[in-house]
This record gives sequence, structure tokens and C-alpha cells, in this order.
Amino acid sequence: MGFELLGLSEPTLKAVADAGYTEPTPIQAQAAPQVLMGRDILGIAQTGTGKTASFTLPMIDILAEGRARARMPRSLILEPTRELAAQVAESFEKYGKNHKLSMALLIGGVNFAEQEKALNRGADVLIATPGRLLDHFERGKLLLNGIDILVIDEADRMLDMGFIPDVEKICERITKKHQTLFFSATMPPAIHRLTKKFLDDPKKIEVARPATAATTITQKLVEVGPRDKRKALRQLLRTEEIKNAIIFCNRKRDVKEVYASLGSHGFSVGQLHGDMEQRDRMETLRQFKENEIQLLVASDVAARGLDVPDVSHVFNFDVPGHPDDYVHRIGRTGRAGRKGTAYTLAVKSKLDVRLIEGIEKLTGMPLPRDEDFSLEREKRAPRKSADSDAKPVKEKAEKVSSDEAEVEKPQGKQHKRAESSERTPRGKNKPDSARSGRPQRGRRDSHPGMAPDDMPKEPFVGMGPHVPAFLSGPFGATKK
Ligand code: AMP
Repeated sequence: MGFELLGLSEPTLKAVADAGYTEPTPIQAQAAPQVLMGRDILGIAQTGTGKTASFTLPMIDILAEGRARARMPRSLILEPTRELAAQVAESFEKYGKNHKLSMALLIGGVNFAEQEKALNRGADVLIATPGRLLDHFERGKLLLNGIDILVIDEADRMLDMGFIPDVEKICERITKKHQTLFFSATMPPAIHRLTKKFLDDPKKIEVARPATAATTITQKLVEVGPRDKRKALRQLLRTEEIKNAIIFCNRKRDVKEVYASLGSHGFSVGQLHGDMEQRDRMETLRQFKENEIQLLVASDVAARGLDVPDVSHVFNFDVPGHPDDYVHRIGRTGRAGRKGTAYTLAVKSKLDVRLIEGIEKLTGMPLPRDEDFSLEREKRAPRKSADSDAKPVKEKAEKVSSDEAEVEKPQGKQHKRAESSERTPRGKNKPDSARSGRPQRGRRDSHPGMAPDDMPKEPFVGMGPHVPAFLSGPFGATKK
């Protein structure tokens, strides 16, 4: 997709071409047309995704019409630091070079008089840090009732730096109806509350970090036979030092199956997919965040838009159908400079070969094969953790070894079995059996169609007291 499809003007497109960009980044492709339509935006994206251009390019075109009046800027961009504010100002110069827009930069460490002059000339675009902006406002040098577009950038950094009260004050002083573009890399509760208060039916756009930024993630590709995937997954779960992990499947059906299978093997696991109701998804997520469950089996859609904390491992049970999803999935680990590991299970099929090629093309690097991996006889071999935080995934006390291949079973049957096993819940938090999907201990003969490999043979250990409930209903879609 080219920039020309975004609805930008010719002079802006020319500036973009001069900047050397040939294709919009995902956030640019999604945000720019919506901004041009006047919609509020909630962008979950961090630096490096091209988010600056995602708001500056359409803003330039919107502001091209009309003129700024003295001390009444027409748009305001709030940035947490001087450096970021200066970078955004540079972007405006670069992308707005074919327009005659006026700009003022209000940041600390620069004298007030110069800034006042710029305000007095009238600014189409005012770029500021919150503290300095309020200083000018309180001195009566600035009016905020001409603002048509407000951008709050890097909101979570504003939170870290204690700027949220200032941001709220500023938002409250913009009395005129305006468009708000809000960006944050993460969505902690304080930020979520802010978006609820100040955004009007926003278009939510979430993008992964660019593949090149994922340097803290060790990526590995494990090639297995189509019938060995679950076994390979279990082997990895037992041998890797896992603090917590998300296991992605391409289909809801597989999410349910892998969840039931891991549960039957005694792993501490929850599931997240589009057939669950909001409250059950939130409960599962709470359990995962609070380390009551260590593994979360999820579909892409269900996991999108979630404020999942950093996880030590991501497993792609299936090679994702879109390379973007791969980047998105693995971006759940290795956050904020921490180390993370992402395993992808692939079978030797034409489809998987093609999908892996697509990922390698997007990330610009080969997906390293894990040459050391070979399927072993299945037995319990939890490693002692080197890192006090990391511990082997909770699993039942002993697993009878079995080399039997897993048999893929029809979904309906197995899911039903998982549900039927709910009727013998353990622990005091007996769930509503109609809703709970937690794999429970079951008798061998209660799983007549299960592969021997998948059947529970020992009582579970290591399960938390909470039993998540699972329902049906869409979740996490970022689109309206
Ligand atoms: P940002 O996430 O806005 O900080 O942008 C990160 C970097 O990506 C900056 O150096 C931009 O110049 C660059 N950039 C932004 N959009 C594109 C694009 N469409 N193609 C190539 N580079 C881009």
C-alpha cells in the first residue's frame, strides 16, 4: 500500500517522498485516514513505529486551511520531554516544508521571551511539554480556546514523569470541541482512565514494535511433525526456564484444544479467545497478570489491545498467517529492554515454508532454526531456576513417559470433554459449571477419544485456587 491511498494532499505526499519513505508503516496506514476524517485516535504504539508521521502528516493537511491568531494556537502537541518535543518539531518542518504553517515550541530551558514572541505571531502548531505550557497559560500569554486538534503523545511516559495532573488540567482548559489524538505504548489503569475521560469514541489502533527493535528477543524456529506439535510444546515448556508465557494459536479451535491439552497435562494454564465473554477474559487476564496462572493460550484477536505485562516467553503454536502478527506476538516478550524468547513451531509444509519466508522478509533476518531441538521421551524434567524470578512451569508431579504421537481430534468432541471434566472441580472455588473451561483432573476413562498422550494420569499440582470461567463473546478487537 502506498502513501497515495491515505488521502493526503499532493504537497504532503511530495514531502513524504522527499523524506525517502515509500510505504506507510502500519500505524500511518491506519491512523492517517481516520485523523483526516476528524476522528479521535487511541494509538497504542511506541517510538520507532512511525507514529509521529501518523499524526503530523494528516494534521498538516487539516491545518493547511485557516489561519492562526495571536496567542491562540490551532493545535497542541504535548510531549513528555524536551527532546521528544524537539523531534516532533523537526518532523513538522520536514513533512510540512511544502506548506506555510507556523509553529511554536514551548519547552523548558529556553527563555520565555522568545517563546512569547512565537505565540504572539500566532501558531498553527504548538508543541510543548506540559509544565512549560501551563506556565505560559497561567501568565496569560496563551489561550487554549482556539485548539482544534490536541495530541497527547507518549502518555505512559507522562505518567512515569508525574505529568498526568498537568495533562488533565490542560485538557480541561480546552473548552472548544476538538479532535484528540492520544498515543501511549502501554495502557496502565491511570492512562486508561484518561482516555475514557477525554476521548470521544476513539478509533483504537494498536501496532507492534518494528521487527528491527526486537533485539532483546531470542527467536527460534522448531520444526516438528504435524502430529508432534503439542508434545514439542510441552517439552519446551518443561525444559525452558519460564516465568510466564503466551502461547498463540491461529484458530480459536486450536486455542481451546491446546488449552485443554496443557491443562490435562497439569500445566497451569488459561485461555483467551473470541468466544469468551468480556468478564471471563478479564478474569483470566487478571490471573495471568497476578501469576495465578503461568501460561496463557490465546488467539491474535483476543490478545490484541491487552495490557499484558512483560512475559518471559512467547510460543507460536502455529506460524502466524500474517507476518505482522508474528512481530506483534513476539513483541509481548522482551519489553522495555528485558530479555525474552520466542519459539515458533512449524511443520514441513508448503504453507509454513511460505509463511516463514514472509516473516523473514518483513523482519529482514532469517528466523534461526533450533538445531538442538529433538523430541524426547516425555518425562518430567523441570530445571532448577537460575533466576529467582524464573521457575519451571508448574506441572503435575510425575508424567508417565510416552512416545505416542498426538492425534488431532475433532474440536467439538474434545472441548466437550474439557467441559465435562468441569463437573469434578477441585478446590473451594467451584465454578459455575456452565461457564468454566478450566481443565480439571479427569479420569482416563472419561476421555475416551483423547490421545493417550493427552490424557491426565496424575492429580494436578501447582494450580492456583482460582478457577477461571470461560464464556463466549467477542473480545479485544481493536476495530470498531
Ligand atoms: P517514530 O516512531 O515516529 O519515532 O519514527 C521512527 C523513525 O521511522 C523515524 O526516524 C522516521 O523518520 C522513520 N519513518 C517514519 N515513517 C516512515 C516510513 N513510512 N518509512 C520509513 N521510515 C519511516
